[in-house]
Amino acid sequence: MKKEYENKQVYFVGGGLASLAGAAYLVRDCGFPGGNIHILEGMHILGGSNDGAGNAADGFICRGGRMLNEETYENTWELLSSIPSLDHEGMSVCDEILAFDHDHPTHANARLINKDGEVLDVTSMGFNNEDRIALGKLMIAPEEKLDNLRICDWFAKTPHFFETNFWYMWQTTFAFQKWSSLFEFKRYMNRMIFEFSRIQTLEGVTRTPYNQYESIILPIKAYLDGFGVDFSLKYTVTDLDFEDGDGITATAIHYEENGKKGVVQLNKGDLCIVTNGCMTDNATLGDLHTAPKMVVDRPMSGELWSKIAAKKEGLGNPKPFFGNAELSNWESFTVTCKGNKFLKLIEKYSRNKPGSGALMTFKDSSWLMSIVVAAQPHFKNQPEDTTIFWGYGLYTDKIGDYVKKPMRECTGEEILTELIHQLHFEEHYDEIMDSIVNVIPCMMPYIVSMFQPRAMSDRPKVVPEGSTNLAFISQFVEIPEDMVFTEEYSIRAARMAVYTLLGLDKKICPVTPHRYDVRTLLRALNTSFR
Ligand SMILES: Cc1cc2nc3c(=O)[nH]c(=O)nc-3n(C[C@H](O)[C@H](O)[C@H](O)COP(=O)(O)OP(=O)(O)OC[C@H]3O[C@@H](n4cnc5c(N)ncnc54)[C@H](O)[C@@H]3O)c2cc1C
Repeated sequence: MKKEYENKQVYFVGGGLASLAGAAYLVRDCGFPGGNIHILEGMHILGGSNDGAGNAADGFICRGGRMLNEETYENTWELLSSIPSLDHEGMSVCDEILAFDHDHPTHANARLINKDGEVLDVTSMGFNNEDRIALGKLMIAPEEKLDNLRICDWFAKTPHFFETNFWYMWQTTFAFQKWSSLFEFKRYMNRMIFEFSRIQTLEGVTRTPYNQYESIILPIKAYLDGFGVDFSLKYTVTDLDFEDGDGITATAIHYEENGKKGVVQLNKGDLCIVTNGCMTDNATLGDLHTAPKMVVDRPMSGELWSKIAAKKEGLGNPKPFFGNAELSNWESFTVTCKGNKFLKLIEKYSRNKPGSGALMTFKDSSWLMSIVVAAQPHFKNQPEDTTIFWGYGLYTDKIGDYVKKPMRECTGEEILTELIHQLHFEEHYDEIMDSIVNVIPCMMPYIVSMFQPRAMSDRPKVVPEGSTNLAFISQFVEIPEDMVFTEEYSIRAARMAVYTLLGLDKKICPVTPHRYDVRTLLRALNTSFR
């Protein structure tokens, strides 16, 4: 432990990946005493959006499944190289994930399915010349000119773009909607330029051995436990106080713990590192016979961010992100089955064994449904005779094609019924239903809040101008060149926050400049003419 840190405390608001990564950088790179690091989480569990829970009797649930990427998650792999695996002695989490992934490479054979249940040939992106020109112009447009623009604004004169194979695959792989931020779409095109030429198989997507709660969060938590990091759960931070006058110095943290209010006073030298936005705020679950509720009021992170942004300049503007849940929601569902009948049917249909495929999208479905079948088991406590898969719908207010209700009003059983029809598996309906343990739908009103159109200045800097002890780490900070809705973004933000606030002169892995690589560019150009 470094003597200079003996009396300093660091408080992380939020217990998601960003805060866990920040704590890991503090102990690993700064020699900061673990006992002086406090992680304050509003929920009953750590991990934030990286969840994974359940059992064989009640069904399993993960709100999302993460596709990682070996070529672009630079700081993620670097950090996970220092985290010991919980399952393989002597191995790091990075080695464990990559070894698993290399044993289970992704090569999807069924990416788009039409309303007749036919798997489409998606070798061609389906562009015409106008589409190519519009996309090309976007790739070179300066970001400063894209404030508040939506994808549909840019392609307003080329509506054909939204009918291309490319758009169906790109939008459902990354969960873009036509009204999503153009700025963010452009960042994805730049950062994922090499993914463009393999979007039809999603080769190159990296998977974890189990759900990310078990494969990423728990090992980092165990690593931090080894340093005595202090975790507080059900501890909601409701406000921060600041020193009067110019500059930004946080002086107190207001919180509620089990309904009781309290204040932590910050002493000189203490730091406060805040997750200012959470995409799974207000997420609710249903079950086989219950639809989840859409709760939009008072998202925990958005509320705190609004309060503090009103107190000081330079702390961003949460309104575009947490102001319109109708535009920022979608819904996922996790299906648990006894036996593997359903998965075997999907395997035959898609020509992909579990874990080797990727998103299968029912492109004509009004909810725009996709499913993903991970390698089994996906949970450590998942018995051999139990199988699971995950799916989602992007447009939850639309009436289903077979179940005549908006997705968000449907029970798990109704969502599954719609899916069985989209797959044209009607003749197997009864045997599939007989095998179902549960279908747990999850409504997420703010899941794509970070994709909402915005001005560049709406996201604060990781360490805002004039800050002496406050930093932001989340998907809602401005990091040049990087793209949100990724684990990497939160980890990168955490690294920037810790190194900057502690004045550490150490390198942060830069964004790899794939978009300047001639071979990658040529491949992308070729793909656009396929
Ligand atoms: C459905 C889904 C699919 C995804 N797919 C991918 C993918 O394919 N690839 C990929 O890389 N990433 C993916 N992600 C994104 C990735 O999971 C997130 O970017 C990452 O988990 C964000 O980490 P975070 O710590 O910044 O925030 P979060 O994980 O959102 O955690 C924030 C935590 O802070 C807590 N909190 C917030 N405010 C307060 C407060 N005021 N007081 C106390 N606690 C507070 C919240 O309760 C939460 O636990 C996906 C996410 C979801 C939900």
